[in-house]
Amino acid sequence: MFIDSHAHLEGKRYDDDRDAVLARAKEGGIEAYLAIGNGEGPDTADCGIRLAEKYSGKPEYPKIWASVGIHPHEAHLANDAAYSRMEQWARHRKVVAWGEIGLDYFYDHSPRDVQKAVFLKQMELARAARLPIIIHCRPSDNSENAWDDCLGMIAEQWTSSGLGGILHCFTGTVEHARRGLDLGFMISFAGNITFPKAQNIRDAALIVPLDRMLIETDSPYLAPIPHRGQRNEPAFVKEVARQVAELRGVSAEEIGEQTTRNFYRFFKLDERTESGDPRA
Ligand SMILES: [Zn+2]
Ligand SMILES: [Zn+2]
Repeated sequence: MFIDSHAHLEGKRYDDDRDAVLARAKEGGIEAYLAIGNGEGPDTADCGIRLAEKYSGKPEYPKIWASVGIHPHEAHLANDAAYSRMEQWARHRKVVAWGEIGLDYFYDHSPRDVQKAVFLKQMELARAARLPIIIHCRPSDNSENAWDDCLGMIAEQWTSSGLGGILHCFTGTVEHARRGLDLGFMISFAGNITFPKAQNIRDAALIVPLDRMLIETDSPYLAPIPHRGQRNEPAFVKEVARQVAELRGVSAEEIGEQTTRNFYRFFKLDERTESGDPRA
């Protein structure tokens, strides 16, 4: 039993075989995934909701929950009309989180001051919507700049909400993981934990308590070894579990079960049904 806590399957790369990708996941023991609602920008941030609706009540596919949010790459597209649309979408019964949101100083697709303002505004909206946040944080090369800004903004603007969040696709150091845990966050590991150069990620995975950990694919990106370079898909989340299991000296099934429990507990979902409400 495994859950992929973060994937983007709405894109064209899955248009030809999305049903097959999801059926393969279910056959492989992936019982649910969180459909991230960034789309190609705020106009299409309901993409996760659409997928969750489309596959709802079909036992041959994983259960799907959704998020809504403006990715830091598209922060320059945010405006009041977009925010009010997203406030509406956030009330949808399948939406369990606001994200991914945060800071990306590696690509700098939006100016950093704009990224910060849009991140801050979305923390306000998430607080009003009573939803936890999913954080994307990527510093520029050989720097910790985005971590310092991001964790600082969370400490100042978010932790008092008590709603918590997830550091998704964790790529920081042990120190960043500790700071995230201290802020009450869950830490989610992705396929890049299997990459030879990612010793810092494996070091972090050793100190994160198992009840604070999630696993994800971030499909279509970052396919784990032995699928590196291919299009990623939720079934591959088992490779992430396998790597964490090897580090921790437990079985991949144990990591799958623990992270599945964590997912349901964190989002306050009922695992027997597709219902549940993190706002409750
Ligand atoms: Zn991300
Ligand atoms: Zn993502």
